Amino acid sequence: MRVLVTGGAGFIGSALCRHLVGELGVGVVNVDKLTYAANLASLAPIADDPLYTFVRADICDPVAMADVFRRYEPDGVIHLAAESHVDRSIGSPGAFLQTNIMGTATLLEAVRAYQDRLGAEKRAAFRFLHVSTDEVFGTLGPSGLFHEASPYDPSSPYSASKAASDHLVRAWQRTYGLPALISNCSNNYGPYHFPEKLIPLVILNAIEGAPIRVYGDGSNVRDWLHVEDHARALFLALTRGSPGESYNIGGRNERANLEVVQSICAILDQRRGGKPHAELIEFVADRPGHDQRYAIDPTKAEAELGWQAAESFDSGIERTVDWYLDRRDWWEPIRSGVYRGQRLGLLEGA
Ligand code: NAD
Repeated sequence: MRVLVTGGAGFIGSALCRHLVGELGVGVVNVDKLTYAANLASLAPIADDPLYTFVRADICDPVAMADVFRRYEPDGVIHLAAESHVDRSIGSPGAFLQTNIMGTATLLEAVRAYQDRLGAEKRAAFRFLHVSTDEVFGTLGPSGLFHEASPYDPSSPYSASKAASDHLVRAWQRTYGLPALISNCSNNYGPYHFPEKLIPLVILNAIEGAPIRVYGDGSNVRDWLHVEDHARALFLALTRGSPGESYNIGGRNERANLEVVQSICAILDQRRGGKPHAELIEFVADRPGHDQRYAIDPTKAEAELGWQAAESFDSGIERTVDWYLDRRDWWEPIRSGVYRGQRLGLLEGA
């Protein structure tokens, strides 16, 4: 079996590629444009595996996408490529609209043309899994959970662009019979997470003694899922899910942001001692349009995909802090800005 993974050099995509190739022995063609958020070092554990192929390409490029399908003839697609950072989407939404909406539309058209050329057997088994977020549902009050039928009500340019892409996938499934499914997942955390997102940013700022900035009063609640649990769920959704369906994926691990920050500080206090890391916490003006609470009901995914989150937040966050303490080789080049220059070839020979 060969799966085409888009965005496989990002945080979740690289975990998925490591899971597919390293743990399941499934072939992967990783199509990634290598934006600032990509890091090929996250794929080092599988980079030399004959099951793994990397193609640098933009999902917005129809010629490149057609070529990828022609050359590699995948049995399925797991589509993760996206601009993913809410704060960046507030500052400059253009790239989000381009990649998340137009890129998804371009990919759907490439899949439609590819499908038409497939033989009956391969066509019957082919699936397209679109990886989306619970942020498309907007905010919850203090109680209740997001279900698959929850109304779409996105608040940020990021979540609006992801909502638009979900609608496109549904339209291509209903109109053209594309065998497409959608997964809507809660916030992920774990190793190889780009340090602009809350958890890695807090860990690294705490390690370096830099201010830990918390939006508003820190009461916003997110439902955390370890990225390796998400990777397992994605393969199960591709292989066991039904076209036309969507699956909410979450770990039943609701935490207020301030609680998450305090847990990280407490773990670092244990590991390193010294001044309490929580002294670095500063409260800053809230993010505009900041959703108050996300929480997922994963009952359908558990029942229909045979999946369950294995990692509790308390053990997962300890493992994650320890990973960042051990893997300075991965994050120091990013924090210092060296990595971007190297990838662009600017520091070659320097
Ligand atoms: P990420 O930002 O770490 O990675 C995105 C990857 O997509 C990068 O490698 C980037 O180079 C690539 N990419 C961006 N634009 C591209 C383009 N035009 N063509 C080809 N590749 C392109 O993101 P992530 O956190 O790994 O999220 C992956 C997916 O999962 C996204 O679709 C996101 O919406 C969704 N998701 C993320 C979370 C989360 O907590 N991170 C939760 C639910 C859903």
